Amino acid sequence: MQLPKYKKKKRIKLKICQEPGCGREFWGHPIAKYCPLHRDIKNRQKQKKDIENIDAKNIVFRHNYTDVMDLKFRCCLDGCDNLFEIKVFPKQFIYPRFCNEHRNDYKRANFIRLRRHKEQSEE
Ligand SMILES: [Zn+2]
Ligand SMILES: [Zn+2]
Repeated sequence: MQLPKYKKKKRIKLKICQEPGCGREFWGHPIAKYCPLHRDIKNRQKQKKDIENIDAKNIVFRHNYTDVMDLKFRCCLDGCDNLFEIKVFPKQFIYPRFCNEHRNDYKRANFIRLRRHKEQSEE
């Protein structure tokens, strides 16, 4: 009697869909990420939220430095002129938008409130 020989051509694995909230198990390629439904990009959630988040708190600073540099940035918060030092790394282009103090959401909101208050009392 001969044992059947299995061809090892198709390497199909039981995978879990990476789409948030799906988690369906499916048989797919070892590198497959999504179930048959979510393999179609139209059925996937847009990643817009993350991009907005990056925009709100970070700046894209394009540079050609090949060494790590310490550069001074000015806080992007309206009314704050604080300079803060940032380590700039080669090939990294996303950096914080605000000074150390205003990187905190609460402190930033507080600063904006105080500034509005000041403007109103000056009028
Ligand atoms: Zn899915
Ligand atoms: Zn600031």
